[in-house]
Amino acid sequence: MVVEILAVGTELLLGNIANTNAQYLSRRCAALGFSVYHHTVVGDNEKRMTEAILMALDRSDVVILTGGLGPTEDDMTKEVCAKVMGFSMEEDARTRKRISAYFKLAKRKNITANNWKQAVVPVGAEVLDNDNGTAPGLILKKDGKTAILLPGPPGELIPLFSEKAEPYLRTLQPDTIYSKMVKVCGIGESRAETMILDLIDAQTNPTLATYAKTGEVHLRITARAEDEAEGKRLVKPVVKELKKRFGIHVYSTKEEEELEDVVVRLLKKRGLKAVTAESMTGGLVAERLVNVAGASECFPEGFVTYSDQAKRKALGVKKKILKRYGAVSEETAVQMAEGGARSAGADACIAVTGFAGPEDSPEEPKGLTYISCYLEGRVTVEKFRFTGNRRKIREQAAVQALDLLRRRILEQDRHE
Ligand code: ATP
Ligand code: MG
Repeated sequence: MVVEILAVGTELLLGNIANTNAQYLSRRCAALGFSVYHHTVVGDNEKRMTEAILMALDRSDVVILTGGLGPTEDDMTKEVCAKVMGFSMEEDARTRKRISAYFKLAKRKNITANNWKQAVVPVGAEVLDNDNGTAPGLILKKDGKTAILLPGPPGELIPLFSEKAEPYLRTLQPDTIYSKMVKVCGIGESRAETMILDLIDAQTNPTLATYAKTGEVHLRITARAEDEAEGKRLVKPVVKELKKRFGIHVYSTKEEEELEDVVVRLLKKRGLKAVTAESMTGGLVAERLVNVAGASECFPEGFVTYSDQAKRKALGVKKKILKRYGAVSEETAVQMAEGGARSAGADACIAVTGFAGPEDSPEEPKGLTYISCYLEGRVTVEKFRFTGNRRKIREQAAVQALDLLRRRILEQDRHE
């Protein structure tokens, strides 16, 4: 079954606001098992809106319209849609009552006549009560096609969709979609794809898709099933196989879990305190750790040591080392990691030193980075050559730094 998203609003076309409603609705519809082939945006213009609705109803089973349900003159989605689908309009007593109760609650006295326009609905439409605003949502059905109208403000659209429109959509699509994410770090997208080419080629149900993220690859396994239990059963062996192939590089199988969440969880569980010693990343690693609520338990401080002098002063990197090997070197990275842990009295330290560009310098090619990890007396260092612009290089380095600490902790567990 095909769903189309039709967002209404000149603001969207002018680029004043981003079409986040389309993103939200598309994601939800995909999760419900619908195919979404088109996103359309049309301005507050009757002629063009009419054309857009006609086209959408022609090629899709369900059209979800967002925006233009408000009280003002340029809000005309409901009127145009009703006209196109051949519905007459009348005031809905229940909606009028709800709107007046809403105004009373909001202590608004200056209710203008156009506010009551929102109580007028297509005859025969299903009215979805809006608990967060005045304009109701609407479901219009005609000749096997459905139009779902939702207000533009996301604070109204999201609850209205999830509480009222989604249950209706579920009745159209009895199959559920169950999906699981396997998050991989430290393996590039093309290599990751090569490693699972046979699985991708053989896929029918569940399906497997890869998504490249900065420094990470996410693998989504999606099954279409009668119910969630069957979905889980279909997905499970694929997750197991991916874990086997990617091993320690799989950092999570939870949709909402980020790399820094895993690192903080591992540190806390083992009662370890880690610090950061950052040159090229300039605090990006620390920033990501602090993103995790409760990180203070395991992350007491971070050093940003950009100049040679700062590396010497805060981390005790030897002048001799800097002179002989340079700031971007294995030796400097190691001294940064050791020095950071020593100076903060921490169990672990991740250090990053590299050259982010934008130009190659005579000494260091752009993207060359050394990441060192000190963990309870043992220090390791890894060399990377990142590509992309300055921002991208720095972000990738932060990801690999977090991942190095994660792998080190897990490897240490294995040896104990
Ligand atoms: P209102 O009653 O507030 O006028 P409405 O249903 O008429 O609601 P619009 O007038 O089209 O909706 O948009 C109102 C506001 O909702 C916009 O200013 C914007 O903040 C938000 N909005 C509208 N459409 C979208 C969209 N597609 N994505 C994200 N936000 C949107
Ligand atoms: Mg409006």
